[in-house]
Amino acid sequence: MKHPLKCPTCGDYRYIEYEGVRFEDPENKKGFGVKIPFFICKQCGQRESVLPRDRFLKFKDEMLPSIKDGEFFDMPLKYIFSKLDPDKRYKQFDHLEFQYDPRDHYIIPGLYREWDDGYLTPVFFDKDLLLYYNGHPDYSVKFTSFSSCTIYHKGERMFEWGFGINRYGKLFKWLGDLDRDFEGEEMKSHLKRFQASNVPSDHEIVSKFYLSQNPFSPSDAFQDSDNETRLFALKNDFNIEAKQKFGVELTKVSIEQLSEYYKPPIMEEREQIFASYLSLNKYFIENLQEQSIRETLLKCGLTEKDFQKDGKQIGSLKLFALFIRHALKKENEDEIVSPLFVLNDLRQLHGHLSDTSFEKRYNYCKERLGLSPTATDLDVSKNLVTRLILLYQSLIDKKDD
Ligand SMILES: [Zn+2]
Repeated sequence: MKHPLKCPTCGDYRYIEYEGVRFEDPENKKGFGVKIPFFICKQCGQRESVLPRDRFLKFKDEMLPSIKDGEFFDMPLKYIFSKLDPDKRYKQFDHLEFQYDPRDHYIIPGLYREWDDGYLTPVFFDKDLLLYYNGHPDYSVKFTSFSSCTIYHKGERMFEWGFGINRYGKLFKWLGDLDRDFEGEEMKSHLKRFQASNVPSDHEIVSKFYLSQNPFSPSDAFQDSDNETRLFALKNDFNIEAKQKFGVELTKVSIEQLSEYYKPPIMEEREQIFASYLSLNKYFIENLQEQSIRETLLKCGLTEKDFQKDGKQIGSLKLFALFIRHALKKENEDEIVSPLFVLNDLRQLHGHLSDTSFEKRYNYCKERLGLSPTATDLDVSKNLVTRLILLYQSLIDKKDD
């Protein structure tokens, strides 16, 4: 079954937004307006009422005779659909004191349960909630994909379930899960922190977290990770394959060890994002074992002269490009390796964030990633990770995940 949020025209996931609609009798200049939820595709503009249209038309027919000519007013949606009352509270969760939109439980596909307990109602949080846990020595935040994450306490998951991250960059968790999360006196201080970052619903929940928990098809349920977690796993696979094929270690330190310490960028904040390039550069470029690469290339028929240009040794990325060409036998090595050159340039920009030349050099990085100069720092970071994933995917033979 196709996911109901998927746009029937272009296949992109749609958003849910409330918009005013007028139901009127133009002849007698009377009627009413009501705010109703729509599925809206931001990709192609397709839109569709979440609720059945005939219910509105039936209501209009019943309502109009009782309205005086010339009269026009706003009608609360709950008069037409009694369950869609924005002030309704799920009483059993009141002690948590979170704000949420109870209607989300009914209008977001896959959440409603017959017993109507509101368990699967999304509660939204600002991402700044994670900064405390990411900065604290006893806690860490791990992003399992660009749209899901978990908080760890001394290496153990702090909660059974993590967070979803929606397309507006907000975090969310289910109301019922939060109830379980904050059982116990020792959780009081955490609850306060969560309450302080609690923000109103924007009705947006499209994320790996939501789709895998509320699947409408096997492809919804089983999604590959798409962020650094996947990148580290692929790099690891690549190293293992290279070892099997050529009998050498391509990196100095195992990527599994390094990724333990990786701090992913959380907010749209330049310093944080550029700091992550320092780590990625360390793992993927500085970590290259040049000696093993040279030895392998010599066995492939290259000579010491091939490792030099203008009397100097070529850099590790150029060497890696030779490895792609002559050891892995891939032809478009310069194109394949290009995201690593961009990473290297971004790493160098880290020390020059306030230089006058920064903008120009940064734009050149964006250009090579296929991004416009207006792309945000977080866009650049995500795009780079996606490109690096594709790079290692293209280098490994093993395709089953
Ligand atoms: Zn569309």
